[in-house]
Amino acid sequence: MMSDEDYNTALKALIEKRASVPCSRCGFNQFELQPAYTAIPLMPDCQAPSSYGPAIPCAVVACKNCGNLSFHSAAHLGLLRPADAAAPSPGTT
Ligand SMILES: [Zn+2]
Repeated sequence: MMSDEDYNTALKALIEKRASVPCSRCGFNQFELQPAYTAIPLMPDCQAPSSYGPAIPCAVVACKNCGNLSFHSAAHLGLLRPADAAAPSPGTT
């Protein structure tokens, strides 16, 4: 689960970056930051979707009306610590 500190950091960053416009699907204007991360896998080859490479860690925001999900890079929200950012990702050089 996301720590309280990271949750608050993510909320603050989303507000500062004005990532709070109405939902792109239903127009509702209330969202909920999910209390855990997810990751979007990067595929080195679209012809071989089962061979995933590194992934982008993300915070997830859900529309409170329709459930439309938005994914925000943890790095862009200031959630990656220096050790995380410097760690080599599998499949990269
Ligand atoms: Zn919505």
